[in-house]
Parts: sequence; C-alpha cells; structure tokens
Amino acid sequence: MTNMETHRARAYACLDEPLPAVELSFEIFPPKTPEATERLWQNLELFVAAKPRFISVTCGAGGSGELGTFDLVQAVQARFGVPVAAHMTCAYASRAEIDALARRYWESGIRRIVALRGDPPKGSTRYSPRPDGYAYASDLIEGLKSLADFDISAACYPEVHPEAESADADFANLVRKVGAGATRLITQYCFDTDRILRLRDRIAAVGITTEFVPGIMPIHSFNQIRRFSLACGAGVPGWRAELFEGGEDGSPVHGMIAASVVAEQCRRLAAEGLTRMHVYALNRAELPLAITHLLRAAHALPAAA
Ligand code: FAD
Repeated sequence: MTNMETHRARAYACLDEPLPAVELSFEIFPPKTPEATERLWQNLELFVAAKPRFISVTCGAGGSGELGTFDLVQAVQARFGVPVAAHMTCAYASRAEIDALARRYWESGIRRIVALRGDPPKGSTRYSPRPDGYAYASDLIEGLKSLADFDISAACYPEVHPEAESADADFANLVRKVGAGATRLITQYCFDTDRILRLRDRIAAVGITTEFVPGIMPIHSFNQIRRFSLACGAGVPGWRAELFEGGEDGSPVHGMIAASVVAEQCRRLAAEGLTRMHVYALNRAELPLAITHLLRAAHALPAAA
C-alpha cells in the first residue's frame, strides 16, 4: 500500500469510530462599514460561545495596510477576554514601525502573533521587500522573537506558495520559519486533503514537531472562492465545482452542500489526528458554527450513517 492509500483506508475506517475532540480557532478581518461592524460584533458573540482556542484578526489582507487591526484586537480582547492573535505583515511598514507596533501589542497583553510576509500593496501584483523593512516572514519572526517571547504562527502551503522558486525552496522557507521561532504552522486553505497530509508527513519526516494546523475555508460563495483561489494558488478540484454547480451563491442548497463538504474534510483531518484547525471565518458565523457543531457532535454521527 502507498502512503496515500494507507491514509485513505484509515480515513474511511475512522468514519465509523468516535472522533477525538477538536479545537478550532477562527480568523476574522477588520470590517469596513458600520453595518459590517455591527454584524461582526453579533457574530463574535456566537464565535466566543463556541469556545475557540483563539480568534485571529487579519492585517492588510489584499494589500490594504494595517487599517483597524490593532483596534479590533484590543476591542475583542477587552470585551470577551478570549485569547486573540494579531496578524502582522512585513509588506506595509518599516521595521521600526513594525517593532513599535509589536511592543504595543506586548504591553497591552497580546501574546499571539500570526507573522506573515503579506500581500503586495494595492496597485502592484509583485511583492518586493522594502529597503527599510523585514523582507520575508522568517525575518519578521526572528525580529519579533528578539523583542519578546511571542507565540508565533506562520503560514505554510500544501500546494506550494505561488511565488516560490520550487516546492523544495518553499519547504526550505517553512523550515527557516520554524528555525526563526514559529510555534505553529497554519496552512493556506487546501481543498485536497491528501496534500495537507503529505505536507504534514514531510514536516514530520525531517524531525519538525512544531504544531501543524490545517486552515479550513468554508465556502460561503463558490464563485468568490474560485476567483480568490486563482490569486492565492489554491486549486479548486473539478468535483467541488460539480457539487456547487447550479446551487446559487447564498441559497439554502449552497449552504447545505458547503456545510457537508467542509465537515467531511474536518472529520477526515481529525481522524488523522489533526485535531486543531484554523477556520477562515471571513466574519460570517453560519458555516464556522456548523463545523463546530458537526465536529463536536461527531460521536453521534456513526449512528446516523
Ligand atoms: P513568506 O514565508 O515570506 O514567503 C513568501 C514567498 O517568498 C514564498 O514563495 C517563499 O518561498 C519566498 N521566500 C521566502 N523567503 C525568501 C528569501 N529569503 N528569498 C527569496 N524568496 C523567499 N496576508 C495579509 O496580507 N494579511 C493577513 O492577515 C494574512 N493572513 C494570513 C493567514 C494565514 C494563516 C495564511 C496562510 C496566509 C495569510 N495571508 C495574509 C497571506 C500571506 O501574506 C500570503 O500568502 C503571502 O503571499 C505569503 O506570506 P508568507 O508569510 O507565507 O511569506
């Protein structure tokens, strides 16, 4: 049996067994309008009630700069007292500005950082390091660790980062981030679970024991995800397109398919022992909460099969 056949055989065998307990973290972004802000605060009540491991707040996704991240991180921590992780990127500020921001986070009690290179600034498609900045995520992680003992999550890519010279160069970069002090690796979302497991196995094979957390993307809108995936190098398998074909974005049918597909992926990952997952919640509550319920009640599912 090949490794992947073993994975598959185990995955299907596990569907009949109770799953281990899972722990989820949720990722949100700073909203841009008063209506979106109000909706987010309502949804945050629901996220917090689901007892997440932590809530993370993105920074400058799409090249928009630091707008709102610091304030939202502070507000969520103050209101709910849950662990909050602040995303920080190299792309939008000088090293001195980033160091100053990191000190403010530390002084305000924030201990978790998701450290990233970041998307290129708006208007440019290629990233080039700022002369006065941190060039890559590994440099940022090293800089943050020299300031304080942050708990640092770094990104990794089951389908290889789209700008990487090669898969090996990308893997070498992952190893550099661990060497620089990352405490956790969170994957880019990936709809091909086999690829996530292959990356997990490759990391283990070189003796890295850093926590490995699959990033989970619930599909709120298939058309939007298809566009976004093109930009970030995530593949959309043909079978996914087939599943969503004809189910209008936002319709109840679309939502049911999305919940079923994402729960299936999470159940397989949990059965593989990957019980900590990071959900790209995109400020929406329905699918992240559906995942939470379906996984936490998973002990009952074999009875329904
Ligand atoms: P890096 O690890 O720096 O790698 C980027 C590329 O450069 C790779 O191709 C790598 O192989 C290459 N590289 C690394 N070091 C070198 C070197 N020394 N020389 C040459 N090449 C090198 N983006 C945002 O803007 N804001 C966010 O809040 C945000 N949150 C995210 C959260 C998660 C969990 C994930 C997975 C991604 C997130 N992103 C975010 C997207 C991320 O910024 C992009 O994927 C970005 O293109 C790469 O970030 P990185 O930290 O992996 O970069």
